[in-house]
Amino acid sequence: MLDVAKARKFIDQCWADEIVPTLVEYIRIPNKSPSFDPDWAAHGYMDEAVVLFERWARSKLASLPGASLEVVRLPGRTPVIVVDIPGQGSDTVLLYGHLDKQPEMVGWAEGYGPWVPRLQGDKLFGRGGADDGYAMFGALSALLALREQGVPHARCVVLIEACEESGSYDLPYYVDHLSDRIDRPSLVVCLDSGCGNYDQLWLTTSLRGIASGTLKIGVLTEGVHSGHASGVVPSSFRILRRLLSRLEDEETGAVRPPEFYSQIPAERVAEARGAAAALGDTVFTEYPFAPGVAAMTEDLTEAVLNRSWRPQLAVTGIAGLPLPVDAGNVLLPFTEAKLSLRLPPTLDAERAGSLLRTVLEKDPPYSAQVTLELGPSSAGWNAPALAPWLEQSLARASQAAFGAPPAYMGEGGSIPFMAMLGEKFPQAQFVVTGVLGPHSNAHGPNEFLHIPTGKRVSVVIAQVLADHHARSDGAG
Ligand SMILES: [Zn+2]
Repeated sequence: MLDVAKARKFIDQCWADEIVPTLVEYIRIPNKSPSFDPDWAAHGYMDEAVVLFERWARSKLASLPGASLEVVRLPGRTPVIVVDIPGQGSDTVLLYGHLDKQPEMVGWAEGYGPWVPRLQGDKLFGRGGADDGYAMFGALSALLALREQGVPHARCVVLIEACEESGSYDLPYYVDHLSDRIDRPSLVVCLDSGCGNYDQLWLTTSLRGIASGTLKIGVLTEGVHSGHASGVVPSSFRILRRLLSRLEDEETGAVRPPEFYSQIPAERVAEARGAAAALGDTVFTEYPFAPGVAAMTEDLTEAVLNRSWRPQLAVTGIAGLPLPVDAGNVLLPFTEAKLSLRLPPTLDAERAGSLLRTVLEKDPPYSAQVTLELGPSSAGWNAPALAPWLEQSLARASQAAFGAPPAYMGEGGSIPFMAMLGEKFPQAQFVVTGVLGPHSNAHGPNEFLHIPTGKRVSVVIAQVLADHHARSDGAG
């Protein structure tokens, strides 16, 4: 039996003495994911982060007898760190996280920055601390807490990849390469997700998929005087607006083609209602709305469902337009827009990608040159039904670590690995959770890690690993 108070004390100490200082060092390293740093191998930042992680984890191996660590590097691919911790019984638990980072983004507050670690109260600001640098440390601190008390657990494999923010395109190769070691996990723990607040444990029950692409609209071979040409030459920006209107209703933001929707399971609707009740206004206030700006809906449950189970479009980049200060009266030759279409968890992402192309490329207005170059797509994920032992374990763990019951909710982002694992191991149970709560702003400016939540999530993992082993003594 796990002594939770003792585990909490151990984990708090480990975070304070070692994990937070190591994450401070980690934030300084600009190890952007390969999509944002195609020369990552030459730059060496990814290796620097791997060395930092490896150094800390290796120093813990002595306290985890029989454990081994390997940095695996398939040719031409981002590395992965695999820590293999032997346990009792024949089961395997897979614990997952990533160490690559999103790019800088603009808008950091004065004195803050992506590569500037800054501790302020309970928060550690900087890129990647919460998404997802803490994961390996959280997982290992949980295992160390179990070992300290001699509480048995199953064999654990901690897998940390370096390509997640690019869609995990290297990961399938490692899953194949490491299939003997990954085995057939009966439990998967993913520490790369969100939490609705910092007051209780949040379990992610679904993730959206994503289809993306770059839409280019060409109308001229070079820009011309707008006074001379407007009214004769169609504006590429106006054509972009028309094409986007095929995809979404500009009045409501609803995606239009019905093929991009899927039926929301009744239990997920009920869950969304529960999550909305637990969250209250946080559903809206967690976002840094500019003064006076209203949300797309006032209905809390609808807002939760919109962001977790419905397709939604974001235009995330635009090219072909000069900065306002440089803009003369010119009708521009082309407009290019990066489109990011979030998809319902159960939708086929690849088919959604080709549909996206068909919708945008067919019958171009004015026979303009319209092409959609598809980017990577990722499938969403819908959790399998929770086994009774795990439901009880999570209730106990949330109570012990947070003093409150757990909450369940779908998340709006994607974690490609969960879809891969869900398909490969349909019998596995999943604990998908994380520290990305209100204002933590992963991917944006002023990202922070809420340290107390990182500690509490680590305690939860310790409890779940103990219960997972205990359950296999019984019914299995
Ligand atoms: Zn992440």
